[in-house]
Amino acid sequence: MAIGVKVMKRPGAEISYLRATLKGMALTLSHLWRPKVTMQYPEEKSSKDWTLSPRWRGTHRMLTDEQGRAKCVACGLCPQICPANCIKLVPGEDEQGNRYPLIYEIDEFRCVFCGYCQEVCPEEAIHVGVHYENSEYSRDRFVYDLERLCAQTHPVSTLWDPSDPKGE
Ligand code: SF4
Ligand code: SF4
Repeated sequence: MAIGVKVMKRPGAEISYLRATLKGMALTLSHLWRPKVTMQYPEEKSSKDWTLSPRWRGTHRMLTDEQGRAKCVACGLCPQICPANCIKLVPGEDEQGNRYPLIYEIDEFRCVFCGYCQEVCPEEAIHVGVHYENSEYSRDRFVYDLERLCAQTHPVSTLWDPSDPKGE
């Protein structure tokens, strides 16, 4: 197939750009009176037009029971399903045969926030959370141990429900 070439005519010296310039300036000026859509982060974190979705998947939380112990029973499902291999679990067992995590760590830096750990947990212990402010100065600070996961207080994420895709 032959390729057609369209030859554009260069504007002559008599062309004036004044009209286009004024049009552009008028458009710029019209923005001065429009309502602002930017937010002054971090002082402002939400507005009536923008809030974080309850389905946002961010920093993890480990829920605790009435005694303040992690609800995790060290079943091993979450490290098994984690696609980023970022959950470290060392299970323990007490005298009554109850399992609990001796070590439970999540590397938030490697995590892809898929939410599988929350979906698979039979105890509804581990959750992704509605939280995103977890920047750190060093790599090792992104590894959250059990104590730190239990100390998180932000809301937990609402998982996507196929029967209610719009979250209504
Ligand atoms: S959210 Fe996904 S990637 Fe992150 S710890 Fe859970 S299972 Fe692993
Ligand atoms: S799936 Fe839940 S109970 Fe099982 S190891 Fe993970 S956090 Fe613990």
